[in-house]
Amino acid sequence: MENIMSHIAPNIVVACVDFRFQNEFLAHCNKQLGNKTFDYLTYPGASKAILDRKSRDAIFSAISTLVKIHQTEMVVILDHIDCGAYGGSVRFSNIKDEINFHKEKLTEAGELLTKEFPEIKVGLLIYNYRQNKLLTV
Ligand SMILES: [Zn+2]
Repeated sequence: MENIMSHIAPNIVVACVDFRFQNEFLAHCNKQLGNKTFDYLTYPGASKAILDRKSRDAIFSAISTLVKIHQTEMVVILDHIDCGAYGGSVRFSNIKDEINFHKEKLTEAGELLTKEFPEIKVGLLIYNYRQNKLLTV
């Protein structure tokens, strides 16, 4: 754990709000980010909220503030399997299609982030609760 007084969070995680997975999201992000501190923003659908014009403005405004006060180096977007904001797993014929769909959406959202914040690295993750595993895109 880094010194809490340093008041620096080198990462921002933008995750889905889904209450079922918050503990897992935080535990996996801690591990994935090497226990470095991160600011944590939740919006329905994560990548979907970045792709949507209205919520994107709010998210980018929050990121812009955090970059200034916490010296952000990387923004991670965390989608998950069976996301209600995207219609859930039922809309896909199999898990492979569902994962590929999220890869596409995350890539699009990541490109928008890079366009707005060219100096910030972008990380793209999918949480597959069926295997309790994070997939890196
Ligand atoms: Zn979700």
